[in-house]
Amino acid sequence: MLRPTTQLRGVGPALAEHLSRIGITQVADLLFHLPVRYEDRTQVRPIGSLQTGDKAVFEGEIQTAAVVYRGRRMLIASLADGTGQITLRFFHFSRYQQKALERGARLRCYGEVRRGRGGMEIAHPEYRVLHDEAGGQNEENLTAVYPTTEGLQQGRLRMLIGRALDELVAAESPELLPLKLTADMDFPSLRDALLFVHRPPPGTDTGQLMLCRHPAQQRLAFEELLAHHLSLRRLRENVRVEKALSLPRQGELQRLFIAALPFELTGAQQRNLREIGDDLARDNPMMRLLQGDVGSGKTVVAAGAALCAADAGYQTAIMAPTELLAEQHLATFKDWFEPLGLDVVWLSGRLKVSERRAALTAIAGGAPIVVGTHALFQAGVEFARLALVVIDEQHRFGVHQRLALREKGAQGAHVPHQLVMTATPIPRTLAMTAYADLDSSILDEKPPGRQPVETVAMAATRRAEVVQSVARALQQNRQVYWVCPLIEESDLLDAEAAEDTAGKLAEALPDYRVELVHGRVKPEQRDRIMTAFKSGEIDVLVATTVIEVGVDVPNASLMIIENAERMGLAQLHQLRGRVGRGSDSSSCVLLYKPPLTQMARERLGVLRRTDDGFEVARKDLALRGAGELLGTRQTGLMQMKVADLVRDAHLIETVQSVASDLLRDQPSIVPRLIRRWVGEAGSHYGKV
Ligand code: ADP
Ligand code: MG
Repeated sequence: MLRPTTQLRGVGPALAEHLSRIGITQVADLLFHLPVRYEDRTQVRPIGSLQTGDKAVFEGEIQTAAVVYRGRRMLIASLADGTGQITLRFFHFSRYQQKALERGARLRCYGEVRRGRGGMEIAHPEYRVLHDEAGGQNEENLTAVYPTTEGLQQGRLRMLIGRALDELVAAESPELLPLKLTADMDFPSLRDALLFVHRPPPGTDTGQLMLCRHPAQQRLAFEELLAHHLSLRRLRENVRVEKALSLPRQGELQRLFIAALPFELTGAQQRNLREIGDDLARDNPMMRLLQGDVGSGKTVVAAGAALCAADAGYQTAIMAPTELLAEQHLATFKDWFEPLGLDVVWLSGRLKVSERRAALTAIAGGAPIVVGTHALFQAGVEFARLALVVIDEQHRFGVHQRLALREKGAQGAHVPHQLVMTATPIPRTLAMTAYADLDSSILDEKPPGRQPVETVAMAATRRAEVVQSVARALQQNRQVYWVCPLIEESDLLDAEAAEDTAGKLAEALPDYRVELVHGRVKPEQRDRIMTAFKSGEIDVLVATTVIEVGVDVPNASLMIIENAERMGLAQLHQLRGRVGRGSDSSSCVLLYKPPLTQMARERLGVLRRTDDGFEVARKDLALRGAGELLGTRQTGLMQMKVADLVRDAHLIETVQSVASDLLRDQPSIVPRLIRRWVGEAGSHYGKV
């Protein structure tokens, strides 16, 4: 079955190109292209039994047919079978159709029935004219409906998948899982499972099918999860045998740094620094994920790790996903490191040519700390002695990017250690699958004195009250964030809305300085504003969600978020994390436009009830799905065909133990499983 689709009868280059758009290039891919839903066309229903909302097959004879104008031109036919009558309505029709649908013609139709003015009706049914008395052949199985793409008709796709299934029946068994496993788990064979999901027999409970709870589907999901897990495990094992520079566990610089900090490290920070120190002391590369809620103090840990490298005369690259966040790290690291006599070099895509040249020279000359955006890993950047890469807010980067970075950082026989940090805490089972190539540790303790951010939700109609509470906070010398809604992905509209809000606030608060940042404000201007806000010269910062990640202004203790009902939980939690960073009590007001949908109500409720990022992440996961949480929607590696990390979480533990067994006892199966489910991306990165 590992043949290109063009070898299948009826597939030419044009069709093959369409198929490749939905990820189908091999005949076998057709088998793993699974239905999104099913239609029951196995029984012809009497027209008299049809009810609104039914999707059904029925047959009858055309009583009347006419083209009429009801605001627009349409073809209306009345179909009857002796038990009842139904109206067929076509808004688009050809002359040929008009001719075929004449009085006396017998039709078999399929579609969704609804209630029209004059009784049951159906718009644009699929139909076939019946020429002989006996009626059409009934479908033997439920009819699968596949995800498809423009220009690739459902019927065509269904037929091709049918051919692949016929080959599957004739071919040798494609089974890769050990018999004992499928027996223990009560799973059908791969062949049976595939046949079942594509052609469920009549009477199958489609409710169960839609929930993907049927053993056939669970078996496929299991195999897919297993393949992804194995691919990441293999990656991790390949990394293990690579060489990295062994760094001192706790050198002089790190000791001086910690002693000079204006605060004590939390227990969690100390523990994580020790763990990281142990990793760095080894001569194979660290691959560690540091999870910690917003404000838990990840930056200090990263700094401590960087000093292990600096102590040994090596370089650290620190990468953040946005300019704003990278610049903030630059400022922090300069504060911390320049007193220790360490140069901090800045590299972003926005540097002038001469500045960039100077930065590249410094990097090639061995500058100990380099801070920047992904520009750090573009062509032309040569590190002299790179030993450690720190990636902040990992969820903003995909798995692929992370792996590509490691390749890029490799020098001679050495691969840099990698520390990736995320403020989006990932539930354990999920982390074990999605990040199976990383060791993970958790910063589960916030710096002392922090108080939870008191969160309330208010209808936007109470805006005046909210402005009052802003005034009160300002009187107490606090600073305030006012976060404006995002409007339809349009920078310009966002900017206008934000300007409007800022104008009104400035009017309502004449004694205070209100400033505005949004995506259209030039970076230099934005930096000036952020710096002024940080130093307390600005009282109210009106911003679009550009401030979402990482900004640190401890004196800001009130945040207003407009149109909170439109934002995701994780994003709201991140935003809210901008306040509550000092020791004063802070609050967050979620303004919403009523009426709230059920989903929005639940989301806002979660934020009101808990300030704990893990709890928020768990709820978010339950409400949304894994892809978005992990930021992998676009990146592909965790893009699954059947499995869903949330829905199928109960399988994950078994997946892990089975993976270990396979790696030990039947390693030859592993690459085949990976190729089947993860494809080229998996095997490529597996080789890294
Ligand atoms: P995040 O984990 O969100 O990246 P940061 O590293 O930005 O958090 O830290 C948030 C704030 O807490 C910073 O102002 C930082 O200086 C401060 N901080 C970090 N660790 C401690 C600590 N142990 N005690 C007191 N304040 C701390
Ligand atoms: Mg941070």
